[in-house]
Amino acid sequence: MNLICCRGDPTVFEPYWRKAGERCSITFKGDQCLSYLTNPKALCWFMEPKLEEEIKKVHRIVGNAKVDDHHLVVGNGSSQLILAALYALCSPNHHTQPHPIDVVSAAPYYSTYQEEVDLLCSALFRWAGDAHQYDNKDEPYIELITSPNNPNGVIREPVVNRPGGRLIHDLAYYWPQYTAITSQLDHDIMLFTASKCTGHAGSRIGWALVRDEEVAKKMVKFIEVNSIGVSKESQLRTAKILSVASESCQEKGLNNFFLYGRHVMANKWKKLREIVKKHQRFIIPKYPLQYCQFSKDYVEASPAYAWMSCKFENMEDQDCEKILKDQNVIVRSGSRFGSDSKHARVSMLSREDDFNVFLQRLSAISKA
Ligand code: PMP
Repeated sequence: MNLICCRGDPTVFEPYWRKAGERCSITFKGDQCLSYLTNPKALCWFMEPKLEEEIKKVHRIVGNAKVDDHHLVVGNGSSQLILAALYALCSPNHHTQPHPIDVVSAAPYYSTYQEEVDLLCSALFRWAGDAHQYDNKDEPYIELITSPNNPNGVIREPVVNRPGGRLIHDLAYYWPQYTAITSQLDHDIMLFTASKCTGHAGSRIGWALVRDEEVAKKMVKFIEVNSIGVSKESQLRTAKILSVASESCQEKGLNNFFLYGRHVMANKWKKLREIVKKHQRFIIPKYPLQYCQFSKDYVEASPAYAWMSCKFENMEDQDCEKILKDQNVIVRSGSRFGSDSKHARVSMLSREDDFNVFLQRLSAISKA
């Protein structure tokens, strides 16, 4: 049977939430949450105040992003916020811009950026590929910076660095379970998502911290027209989950959600590294030790994905996706991320059992 390792479905933290039990429960009565509106006077009129409070709290506790000088915009996952941000950064030029604004990201980039942009065939923006190759001088552009990066876990900075550039920082994985928290980030647009913070992808809640009020208003407009807001049940449930995660940070051991997350991720990476080292058939990146201000110790990153390549001697075609597919392991080819088919992305966010099957199959391929 095929083992699906191509999606970043974050079921890895399930045991933690199972153990937390009733503390995470939230119920709704039939007369609750009927209205579209939450707070008609607020900039983000569909955002639940409780969610705003809990998002700010978790950022302050973890120390990964500044929240005080930013507007908060909630979205249907950060997927919707990516488009909302692109719309907001392009729309002032709508009537004066002769052609759509270029959107770039350094390869290997998160494949969905290209998919989202290409799907719309928008008059406002267009996909212009790898930021390293971008040489369309004197044109305005938007650069998406994913840090830590999906697919390769690397901490990133902008690449193009030219006047006229607008930046969107996608910080979906800038949480202690994946990487060291080295500074409190303070960028103009920072995107986060419950999907990767606590693992509650099914709730479809993302948020943006946006410095400029006009940009934030346009993002809200996009969400208003696109989906008339965001599910209140989802927002309140996410607020509850975030409050439990924040509270847990008062504890030192594995009751602390982020330390638990780091522990399980580090364990998976350790097992993967052992197999890779033993068989010498695959290559995975190594990450430097960095001081984490959240846990106050030195840690090596344990990214959400393993960016693998193969080194099979006497094999002309080193297509990593194909080699794994032959053992019924379904991964996403590097070519989808603006890289090459020698590379492939394997999700490290799966349940323990599935991950162990993956390791067994990897060993079988390596021995073949
Ligand atoms: N950005 C990055 C870098 C991601 O990896 C993902 C999910 N894989 C998203 C955004 C979107 O997440 P969601 O829509 O679930 O919030």
